[in-house]
Amino acid sequence: MEYFLTEEQLMIKELAARIADEKIAPVALEYDEKGTFPHDIVNVLADSDLCGVYIPEEYGGLGGGILEMAIVVEELSRACGGISLAFAATGLGSFPILLFGNEEQKKKYLPDIASGKKLAAFGLTEANAGSDAAGIQTTATKDGDYYVLNGTKQWITNGSEADTFTVVACTNRSKGARGFTAFIVEKGTPGFSFGKKENKMGIRASNTSELVFENCRIHKDNILAREGMGFIVAMKTLDRTRPGVAAQAVGIAQGALNYALKYSRERVQFNQPISSFQAIQHMMADMATQIEAARALVYQTCKHIDGGAKDISKESAMCKVFASDTAMKVTIDAVQILGGYGYMKEYPVEKMMRDAKITQIYEGTNQIQRNVIALELIKEASKK
Ligand SMILES: Cc1cc2nc3c(=O)[nH]c(=O)nc-3n(C[C@H](O)[C@H](O)[C@H](O)COP(=O)(O)OP(=O)(O)OC[C@H]3O[C@@H](n4cnc5c(N)ncnc54)[C@H](O)[C@@H]3O)c2cc1C
Repeated sequence: MEYFLTEEQLMIKELAARIADEKIAPVALEYDEKGTFPHDIVNVLADSDLCGVYIPEEYGGLGGGILEMAIVVEELSRACGGISLAFAATGLGSFPILLFGNEEQKKKYLPDIASGKKLAAFGLTEANAGSDAAGIQTTATKDGDYYVLNGTKQWITNGSEADTFTVVACTNRSKGARGFTAFIVEKGTPGFSFGKKENKMGIRASNTSELVFENCRIHKDNILAREGMGFIVAMKTLDRTRPGVAAQAVGIAQGALNYALKYSRERVQFNQPISSFQAIQHMMADMATQIEAARALVYQTCKHIDGGAKDISKESAMCKVFASDTAMKVTIDAVQILGGYGYMKEYPVEKMMRDAKITQIYEGTNQIQRNVIALELIKEASKK
């Protein structure tokens, strides 16, 4: 399908696709098995200038937006949904700075992220605050020009591999969600350490760790927006990064279809390739149709956001729900097309199925996204 991408967007897509095919695909299964972080691939991305596709030129990036970020995530995820996250989660950690950082903060933090020298991460979730993010317990107590952070963030992507973190903490419990504040925290700050590293079902090349704050002093200059704006910083960030999760889902699904299609033409049963059976053909037709619909929704949502649209929660949620549900369906069908071989770790589709699952869970579960979509629909209807 022709998405009328600009010449520059097509170049970005081709470059990311080449890295996916030549550098990531050959090592994806190994990284999955070992569950190690792909430093060598991060270096390749840094050398390729792709790390800053969504960062403005004045801060060292290529000046693109959400669409450029999604294009890169999609292509990398086609080869490995876990490895692509080093890039995608850096986007999640950077968007609070892009959206709410002042000039000084942007100049200080964005160039190293754009060059790939540093990775970023986003710390909102805690053990007892997932979907209900307003339940966070990490505190930031004012002490002169500093805020003293105490608490633990759980399941933070890029956790112990990132250098720059956006962390949301409670500065005034009595104000509820209006009592949260977002801080930029640097790795190496005294009182900031990394806790448990998770052993996961999928996206195993991605680092998922705890961030531990014990009397960690952060200067007030590192507040994003202003005190009390932390929840808004988090929600507006997630509205803009969910299309990235959706792009990850589209990439994983496309990778699974590509493999299943190739396999179906090679695998012979009853003296003919299994691609000649209509049952297999129809499965692949549905997979391709669902992927194309998901991609169209993701690209259009990205264009909508990059075009400056303000109310984007519904569209952002829609593309995340649709693309992630598609990735789950498509990868399950890919395993089915490979039969028993699909169940074996020597073949990539069982990994793709495990990788797809997370896209229905993080950056807001699909149940929560459906809540968002429904609430917006009702709100819109009540205005008519
Ligand atoms: C691998 C991984 C990486 C992650 N990376 C990050 C990260 O980088 N930064 C970060 O801050 N967080 C991160 N997260 C956290 C992630 O965003 C949360 O896991 C997610 O928001 C869901 O929270 P929960 O897991 O606590 O589930 P819960 O909130 O406990 O939900 C459990 C179930 O109840 C359902 N549910 C809950 N409330 C409702 C409701 N109101 N209506 C309907 N259903 C409901 C949910 O949909 C789900 O099915 C990561 C998680 C994982 C697993």
